[in-house]
Amino acid sequence: MRCYHEAGHSIAHQFFGHKIIEVKTGSDAEAGCRVAPQKVEALDFIVACCGGKAAVDQLYRAKATTDKNWQASKDHADAFRVALHVSDGDAQAAELLVKWGERMADVVCLRLWPQIHKLAFALLEHGSLSGEHVKQLIQSHNGKDAWNDRRAVSEDKNV
Ligand SMILES: [Zn+2]
Repeated sequence: MRCYHEAGHSIAHQFFGHKIIEVKTGSDAEAGCRVAPQKVEALDFIVACCGGKAAVDQLYRAKATTDKNWQASKDHADAFRVALHVSDGDAQAAELLVKWGERMADVVCLRLWPQIHKLAFALLEHGSLSGEHVKQLIQSHNGKDAWNDRRAVSEDKNV
């Protein structure tokens, strides 16, 4: 389960073109997906924070019966911190944005499920993987461009 959690984060980070240094499985203290210091899109980051939860949810094909663990997790705290920043400090808007991130992470996980599966097994086998290895696994599935194209909309309407 830990492997899938970390694979979910890693695939999401890679999907958005974030530079990953290393991903590790193991105990709570050891495990994690370490990304390089870099400037990233806030919305992409929020989705990547939700990627671990999304992968585990997908593994069990169902949402956890309670949100309590997720709400108390560091992943949620990270996503919320960035969401609050984007939301000009409004906690209600930030909560909604994290919810959006959760759903988008589900979408990314569904789309890249075979890659998550592969990565989780590689993690199980090796314990840790370099960012380069993660990149190779999902190379042909970089969705960043299409994703970004969707961010800008042209409207000319009198409102
Ligand atoms: Zn996590």
